[in-house]
Amino acid sequence: MTATLPEVPALPSHCDVLVVGAGPSGSACAQMLARGGLDVVLVDAQAFPRDKVCGDGLIPDAHAALQRLGVLGEVMAAAQPVGHVACIGPRGGRIDVPGELAVLPRRQLDDIVCRAAVKAGARLFAPARFEAPIEEDGRVVGARLKVNGALHELRARWVVLATGAVPQALIAAGVCERRTPSAVALRAYVKNDAMADRITEMEVVWHRELRNGYGWIFPCGNGVFNVGAGIVHSRGVDRKGLADANLRHLFDAFTRIHAPAHALMQGGTVVGELKGAPLRCSLNGARYSRPGLLVTGEAAGSTYSFTGEGIGKALETGLLAAESLLQGERQPRSEADTRAAYETGLRGLKPRFDLYEKANKINAHPWLADLVIWRAQRSPRLLKRVSGLLNETSNPGHLLTLKGLSRLFLE
Ligand SMILES: Cc1cc2nc3c(=O)[nH]c(=O)nc-3n(C[C@H](O)[C@H](O)[C@H](O)COP(=O)(O)OP(=O)(O)OC[C@H]3O[C@@H](n4cnc5c(N)ncnc54)[C@H](O)[C@@H]3O)c2cc1C
Repeated sequence: MTATLPEVPALPSHCDVLVVGAGPSGSACAQMLARGGLDVVLVDAQAFPRDKVCGDGLIPDAHAALQRLGVLGEVMAAAQPVGHVACIGPRGGRIDVPGELAVLPRRQLDDIVCRAAVKAGARLFAPARFEAPIEEDGRVVGARLKVNGALHELRARWVVLATGAVPQALIAAGVCERRTPSAVALRAYVKNDAMADRITEMEVVWHRELRNGYGWIFPCGNGVFNVGAGIVHSRGVDRKGLADANLRHLFDAFTRIHAPAHALMQGGTVVGELKGAPLRCSLNGARYSRPGLLVTGEAAGSTYSFTGEGIGKALETGLLAAESLLQGERQPRSEADTRAAYETGLRGLKPRFDLYEKANKINAHPWLADLVIWRAQRSPRLLKRVSGLLNETSNPGHLLTLKGLSRLFLE
C-alpha cells in the first residue's frame, strides 16, 4: 500500500484474482474461480443492482451458461419465457424461429449472477472503479481502484478485465486495440398492458429505414416491453457513421414503420429514460491478455455481430477465463501457458463470430431478410437451419455465401 494513499478499510490489499466488472462475464468468472477455492475480489464501478442498457433477450447459449452457473432456475422464475423469435422482413413477411428463449431486464439478471458469485465466496466491492493496473517489470500485479474518491491499491496474482463495451479500462490497462465500438443501439421500456397478449414473442424487424441494423420488441412480462433499434458496423457503415448515428431518429423510424411498435408507443407509457450504448463484437478490438491480465466478455469483443447478442458469450468467455486460471493452479504451468490456453479457447470460438460478421450482410441489405423469410416460409428444412443458427447447431455463414443463397432456391 502506498503511504500517501488513504486506506479504504473494506477493500483488502491482496487477493488471488481481482475480477473487474460484475456483469455476466465478470460474475461468471468470479463464481467459477471462487468455487475452485481461489480468493477472489469482484469490483464494479456501479453499485449493484444496476441497470445495463440491453435488449434483455436470453437466447439458448445464455440458458446453457446460466445452467452451468447453477442459476437458470432462479433466472427463469423471474424471466418472461418466450417460445420464438419472430423475424420480420421489410415487406412484412414473418417466420417464427423456435428456441429456448426468455427476457429478463438486466438489472435483475446481473444481480442474480453477481449474487451467485458472492454466494460462492467472491468478495464484491461496488462502487469501486478500476483506474489503472499496477505493473512490475511489464507484468500486471494488481490495480488502482477508486472508491469514494480515494485511490486504493489492490495486489493480485491475476487481474481479469470484464469491463464491457466502454473502452476506458481497456485503454488504461494497455490492451485496447480499437477505441470505437462495433455497433450502437438504443432501448426504452414501454408499459402497455393492452398489448400484453398481442406481443408474446421476441420480434426482430428489418426495414430499409433501419438499414445497417434492425429494430426489436422483447416482452419482459407484466405488460412491459423492451423496445429498441441499433446499427452495426459493416462495409455500408464505417465507424465514423456509427459515431454520428442518430439513434433517436432510428428508434422513431422503427416505432413509425412497425405497426406493433407504433401501437405500443401510442397506447403505452415509457418507463424511465431511453438509453443508448455501444457494443463490441466479433472478438476484435482488444488484446485477449498480457502478462498478469486476461480480458474477457464484451471487453474482448464477445458480442455477436448481426444479432448484437452477447450475454451468453459473455458468460461463456468469463467461464473460459476462470477455467484457464484454475487449470494453471491445478497443474502448475508457466503464466505464458495459462494465457496461451485462454487465448486458444477464445480463438476456438472465433470462426463462429466470423460467420455472424458475414451474416451481418442482412443488416446492410434488408431485402436479403425478405428473401430468407420468403424461402423459409416454404421450406421446413430451411426454417430448421435458421433455428439451428439461433440454437447454435447450424452454421449461419452458409446462409449467406453464394452457395448458401443459391441453395435457398433448391431446399
Ligand atoms: C442496446 C443493446 C441491446 C442488447 N441486447 C442484447 C440482448 O437482447 N441479448 C443479448 O444477449 N445481448 C444483448 N446486448 C449485448 C449485451 O448487453 C452484452 O453482450 C453484455 O452485457 C456483455 O456482458 P459483459 O459482462 O461482458 O459486460 P457488461 O454487462 O457491460 O458488464 C461490464 C461491467 O463492468 C463495469 N465496469 C466498466 N468499467 C469499469 C471500471 N473501470 N471499473 C470497474 N467496473 C467497470 C460496468 O459497470 C459493468 O457492470 C445488447 C447490447 C446493447 C447495447
